[in-house]
Amino acid sequence: MPEPWADDGGLRREPVLDHDYAPPRVVRFVGWARCLRCRRPFFSEDVVRLRMCTGAVGGCRESDERFADGLTGGNYSGDRRAGG
Ligand SMILES: [Zn+2]
Repeated sequence: MPEPWADDGGLRREPVLDHDYAPPRVVRFVGWARCLRCRRPFFSEDVVRLRMCTGAVGGCRESDERFADGLTGGNYSGDRRAGG
């Protein structure tokens, strides 16, 4: 998995490959995202599915696990909004 890099506002996305497949398959992308809830930037290990900040202290995902699952349901249409 790629090492986290400095906050670039979400410009850079690095694929994570699953080497169980041949050729290796991209299973997710890591990169900087902005928390849906507190709006803080955070390094997401899956920018598609993990949309709230994580962390040992004060991560929104921990405090509201309703959002931890089902994020890829059909209701998220604002995903491609540019800027931030
Ligand atoms: Zn947050």
